[in-house]
Amino acid sequence: MAYLGIPANTMAILKKYNFSFQKKYGQNFLIDTNILERIISESEITKDDCVLEIGPGIGTMTQYLAESAKRVVAVEIDRSLIPILEDTLSGYDNVTVINDDILKVDIQKLCDKYNDSRPIKVVANLPYYITTPIIMGLFESHVPLKSITIMVQKEVADRMQQKPGSKDYGALSLAVQYYAKPEIVAEVSPNYFIPKPNVSSAVIRLTRYENPPVEVDDEHFMFSLIRASFNQRRKTLANGLANGGLGLDRETVNSVLEKMELSLTVRGEALTLEQFAKLSNLLGKKGNS
Ligand code: SAM
Repeated sequence: MAYLGIPANTMAILKKYNFSFQKKYGQNFLIDTNILERIISESEITKDDCVLEIGPGIGTMTQYLAESAKRVVAVEIDRSLIPILEDTLSGYDNVTVINDDILKVDIQKLCDKYNDSRPIKVVANLPYYITTPIIMGLFESHVPLKSITIMVQKEVADRMQQKPGSKDYGALSLAVQYYAKPEIVAEVSPNYFIPKPNVSSAVIRLTRYENPPVEVDDEHFMFSLIRASFNQRRKTLANGLANGGLGLDRETVNSVLEKMELSLTVRGEALTLEQFAKLSNLLGKKGNS
């Protein structure tokens, strides 16, 4: 078995298939065995796990996943990679490759089919151009998930972990922290990829909460409030909400802010997840009464 984490083996495969990288698909392949081993150990995969890999590329990480997990389902958009994956993964009988766009795949169906509807783990070196829709899609669709361990742009990993008061704190931080516990487990230099990306990367593990850390009556409504408050960052929270197309009038918003003992000029970026949950519960009740 030629392990692709070894650069010479990756070069040989790229040459054999005369592969040309497609920028539009965010193709940066890993060529470092240490970082691959690190991702596998941090994702805490066991022989009981079914893993969904998003974007297997030429199968570099898939080889490691196949050796650690019970089953691997890998979804790759680029048709030209499918014959390569058949070659590089021919030694494994526990890998299924699906040629599709992950944003169009019914992941619940994959869980049902390959893991008897039990929670899966997601492990991926993500295509950076669609990091947020992939993560949000996984959480919001409520597919059964144990964890998501992913390589993302370092700056995006930082945003997922941020707390109120930081300039990088925003809708993504709140959404991730509502569904999961985020932990950056490795920082990765561009030198570990071919071709080298223009940005630094990080591996972040998101461990799904069984129950969210805050109680919210209407999750959808809370996320609409969060989006409205960060859409116009320089506006006050009251302005953002009253003009956010949510059907909330200024008087209602002000009375709830007062009830929460918040200044009428407070900005969304100062509120914790707990405060957004409370705001949502109070505004939701007002709206319904
Ligand atoms: N896992 C490989 C590795 O670590 O070497 C490749 C990672 S590369 C950063 C991202 C991969 O995702 C590419 O193989 C790319 O073709 C694939 N990809 C991009 N957009 C995709 C999409 N919408 N659905 C599925 N795969 C996608």
